[in-house]
Amino acid sequence: MTLIDGKQTAEKIRDELKLRSVEFEKKYGKKVGLAVVLIGNDPASQVYVRNKIKACEEAGIRSFAHYLPETVSTEEAVSLVRSLAEDDNVHGILVQLPLPKHLNTELILNTIPAKKDVDGFLAENIGKLALSEEGTVACTPLGVMELFKRYGISIQGKRAVVLGRSNIVGRPMALLLLNADATVTVCHSKTQNLKEECLRADILVAAIGKAKFVTADMIKPGAVVIDVGINRTEDGKLCGDVDFDSVKEQASYLTPVPGGVGPMTIAMLLKNVVDAAERAQ
Ligand code: NDP
Repeated sequence: MTLIDGKQTAEKIRDELKLRSVEFEKKYGKKVGLAVVLIGNDPASQVYVRNKIKACEEAGIRSFAHYLPETVSTEEAVSLVRSLAEDDNVHGILVQLPLPKHLNTELILNTIPAKKDVDGFLAENIGKLALSEEGTVACTPLGVMELFKRYGISIQGKRAVVLGRSNIVGRPMALLLLNADATVTVCHSKTQNLKEECLRADILVAAIGKAKFVTADMIKPGAVVIDVGINRTEDGKLCGDVDFDSVKEQASYLTPVPGGVGPMTIAMLLKNVVDAAERAQ
C-alpha cells in the first residue's frame, strides 16, 4: 500500500504558489489578496480563519481579515461583502461558515461575485462544474483530484464510489470524477446495500463524517481509498471515516487522517486565490 502524503504534497504546492504570488506582485505592483470574513465567536471557525490567514502570509498572499460581532445584521454583512466585491486589491472573498443562525447565509454568500468565490460554493461555479466548464471548484474535492494527479493515479474508465453528497464535498467530488471519465456512483444515508456498492469501487472517496465507518470488508483488493472525514474518537484523537488499520491491508493507495486530504484543502484555497488574481488581470 502506498500512503498518500497530503501534508508533504500540500507543502510542495504552497511553495509553487509562493513563486506565482511573488511573480504576480512583480508584474502588477500589488499582492494577491484574500478577504476573510468571520462573524461571531465560534471557536472552531476562529481556528480555521487563523490557519487560513497564516497560510496566506506564508504564500505571499495579502489577507484582509474582517471580524464582525455576533450581533451584526444581514444588511451589514452584505454591505461589507459588497465593498470587498468592488475592491480591486481583493481577488478572493471567503465568508467563514457556519454563520450565526439569525443571518441569511444564502443572501450574504450570493453577494460574492463568482470570480471572487474562492470556496467554489456559489451556484454559478457549481453549475459550471456540472457543465464541465472552467470555474472555481470547492477546495476539498479539488485537493483530492490534485492528489490523484500528483500520485499518478489514473481515473479514466475507473469505477469510482463517493460516500456522501454534501454540496461542499460529495457532490462536487462526484462531478469532478465524472468529468475525469470515471464511472461514478454516489452513496448517501438512504443508499441500500452500501457495502456492495463500495466493494465495486476502484476508487473510493469517503466523506460522511462517521468515524472509522469504512472497514476492510468493504474494500475491493487494490482499490484507491481517499478519506475526507475528520472525526474525533472518544479519547479526543482525530480520525477519518475509514478504519485505517484494517483498510491499509486491502488498499493500493490510502490517505491518512490527519495528514491526508486536510492539508490539501488549504493549499487548494490558496491556489483558487492565486488563480482568481491571475484571471482578474
Ligand atoms: P455533511 O454532514 O454535510 O454530509 C454528510 C454526507 O454523508 C451526507 O450526504 C449524508 O447523507 C452522508 N451520510 C451520513 N451518514 C451516512 C451513512 N451512514 N451512510 C451513507 N452516507 C451517509 O458532511 P460534509 O460533506 O461537510 O463532511 C463530511 C466529512 O468530511 C466530515 O467528517 C467533515 O468533517 C469532513 N470534511 C473534511 C474536510 C477536509 O478538509 N478534510 C473539509 C470538509 C469536510 P444524506 O445526504 O442522505 O444526509
